[in-house]
Amino acid sequence: MMRGRSGFSFLWSLFKGSISLDQEFLYEIFRREMRERKIPLSLGKICPVKCTFCYEKDHSYRKTFDIPLTTQEHWEFILKEIQSYPTRDKENWVIGGNEYMAWTDLFLHPRAMDWLEEFLDVTDKNIILFTVGYTPPDRINRLAEKYPGRINYELSVITMGEVRKRMMPHAPTVDQVLRILDGPAVTSANFYSFGPDTMSADAIRISKINKKCLLWMGCLTPLKYIDPETTALMRQGKKFLSREARKIYNANLPNTCMIHTESDITAFLNRKKIIKTFDACELDKKDTVVMAGNVYRVLKLFRQNRARFLYVPNHTLGGDSNCTTLLTFDDIARRLTHELKVYLPKVVLEGSCAEEKDIAGTYFSEFQARFPRTRFKVLRKVNSDLSNKKLYEKGYVKNYVEDYLGDPLHKKFEAVPLPN
Ligand code: SF4
Repeated sequence: MMRGRSGFSFLWSLFKGSISLDQEFLYEIFRREMRERKIPLSLGKICPVKCTFCYEKDHSYRKTFDIPLTTQEHWEFILKEIQSYPTRDKENWVIGGNEYMAWTDLFLHPRAMDWLEEFLDVTDKNIILFTVGYTPPDRINRLAEKYPGRINYELSVITMGEVRKRMMPHAPTVDQVLRILDGPAVTSANFYSFGPDTMSADAIRISKINKKCLLWMGCLTPLKYIDPETTALMRQGKKFLSREARKIYNANLPNTCMIHTESDITAFLNRKKIIKTFDACELDKKDTVVMAGNVYRVLKLFRQNRARFLYVPNHTLGGDSNCTTLLTFDDIARRLTHELKVYLPKVVLEGSCAEEKDIAGTYFSEFQARFPRTRFKVLRKVNSDLSNKKLYEKGYVKNYVEDYLGDPLHKKFEAVPLPN
């Protein structure tokens, strides 16, 4: 079923009227995903793993299409198309489309491993894959040995603790996850805090069998459609994050250990750069600047009254989300009153690589048209390149423990109230 038409109106009108254009329409979606270096395989249904924390449970905020199960014919089209792209150093092709398709665990597709192998065999490109562990352990580790450095395997462990069965009712067993980890395939394993001895226990267990993979940790953020029980577990995880992180810090594991999922922590650790970038924008006291809670707290604390900070809650995603990068135009529209000039951080417009859209797929031009009396100015310096760079630079457990928890100022930062 189609949820939206933006950018597809012409093709869609043809598609509606003619069955024979079905394939052309489908292939156009494939092409669009591939332009973003996505390999658009599909299970042809919603993800059967049914994780209670899944952020794709409700993806109605963006436009997606129901794509049928990928066939051999589809695959041949996709592979041929990918082969026509030049190979670039450090560029990865992601298994799975997520611009116009819903995200699923594609290693449940019966041909996924064969196609992965063929891709590695006939192209010289690198690949990145995400799964909760549906890759057969021996086969994926053999492939990693055969094609060293070309597979970037992000294993979503999530948790190996007692809540695993409840949160991931149809996920592979812990034994399967550990067998995958026992080899060269996994480049990064992600798992989270859900309470005492969850994240830290998983980190120590994984590190015992794999000393090389990156450990990517933190909390999962409850969004508005996550059920109350899972939300409570996520919040409990946040409450225990500092304790869990300190345990990992003290364990001095040989693996690279990163904490990435808390936008407030990231903003605090990068406050100097945020302030410097803000100062460089040379705004006037009366200028209205859009931001979500994470940046609001920094500027309220360090640049009080230097501009009018328009706090915008992440209404689209809801729950506890608190991140400027994930704001949508709809979120901003809800907070505008009679402003004549508004400054927008560029990150909001970078929901899709090449076009000026937010994460919901709404074009900047559509948003501007809704407010003909308001002039929007884009703060180009506040962009995704900068925020991604800073996310990685200060994303280590060491930074969190030493520079966040170890800095008494973080308490003052956390106490900055967000406006209603
Ligand atoms: S495996 Fe991934 S896509 Fe599937 S339900 Fe779980 S989190 Fe969602």
